[in-house]
Amino acid sequence: MVNWLVTGGAGFIGSNFIHHILKSREDINVFNFDLLTYAGNLENLSDIRNNDRYHFIRGDICDRKQVDEALLDNKITTIVHFAAETHVDRSILGPMQFVITNVNGTATLLEAARDYWLNNPEKPARETRFHHISTDEVFGSLKKGEPAWTEDSPYAPNSPYAASKAASDHLVRAYGHTYGLPVTISNCSNNYGPYQFPEKLMPVVILNALSGKSIPVYGDGQQIRDWLYVEDHCEAIEKIILQGKPGETYNIGGDNQPTNLAIVKTICQLLDELVLDSPYKPFESLITYVADRPGHDRRYDMDSHKIHQLLGWSPRFTLETGLRKTVQWYLDNLTWVEGITGKTNYQDWMQRNYTG
Ligand code: NAD
Repeated sequence: MVNWLVTGGAGFIGSNFIHHILKSREDINVFNFDLLTYAGNLENLSDIRNNDRYHFIRGDICDRKQVDEALLDNKITTIVHFAAETHVDRSILGPMQFVITNVNGTATLLEAARDYWLNNPEKPARETRFHHISTDEVFGSLKKGEPAWTEDSPYAPNSPYAASKAASDHLVRAYGHTYGLPVTISNCSNNYGPYQFPEKLMPVVILNALSGKSIPVYGDGQQIRDWLYVEDHCEAIEKIILQGKPGETYNIGGDNQPTNLAIVKTICQLLDELVLDSPYKPFESLITYVADRPGHDRRYDMDSHKIHQLLGWSPRFTLETGLRKTVQWYLDNLTWVEGITGKTNYQDWMQRNYTG
């Protein structure tokens, strides 16, 4: 058995990853290290609460003592680093928390891993790995006709969120280069699927539609993103950790780039089909254009040839199949949704920021 520390495992992708890896591998114990900020939710993992191979540690990646204890007490051989502040709109309103968590927190984890894995005589005898999860947003924005980003594209982050993730990527790379820490990095496009916190585009569209609220579309809605179903992302991360080479970076994309408006309309059409009885149908009538996000990136596109060719990964879900599964999951899990949307801090945030 080996022990993996998953930071941010109570968030959207982290919790999907924990479900995925416990199913996919029987030789791994998972230690979920999460501060439980507004975005962390242990309900995402309620079904595996009693699994012998799953353990929860409430901790802050910025707190060196807590991180050291988590690594040493549990003889951690692999760190899968998801923990971050992740919402671009929140980073525009309050960038400092993004610098603290995403930059200082990543640096703290790297220092702890370096001390334990490289300098400690009690270090684990097994092979170690620090895998850092990042985003395509570090590359900035593409103009029409410009080619998709490869792993060698220059970084040009535009939002405070993207800049803080870019800084963390550079730190991870530097620890690999300077100290020989066995690091890998993945930069992934927009994820969607179960357990996504209802402040991000897809759950906002689904939940606003169901309750007859306006569905906000930023600017002209012509921004282009690449989308990947979260389970496909989790499979890619597993492959990189188990087969990828230390020191390497891998792009992960879904190979589909609809406009935001097209995504919103498709979700509305799926809801028209799946929700039998609603006074708000057709849901498209709820679409409302709102002021664009400041500095909003226009187009993202990822070239994922490297991971396709070297690690044999490709997505199993199309946008069509992934979206259908996602919409159905939210319809089937309204109690989970209410656990979040019923809270005052959530309602205050949404009221201040999604009024249209
Ligand atoms: P999320 O916001 O849903 O979850 C973040 C988790 O990190 C939460 O559980 C939160 O409690 C935890 N956390 C925050 N600060 C912490 C701290 N100081 N110590 C310990 N835990 C802390 O995020 P997500 O959407 O699941 O994203 C996970 C990772 O994937 C992030 O690093 C993000 O940059 C990256 N990523 C996300 C997407 C996407 O579309 N969501 C795409 C590409 C990359």
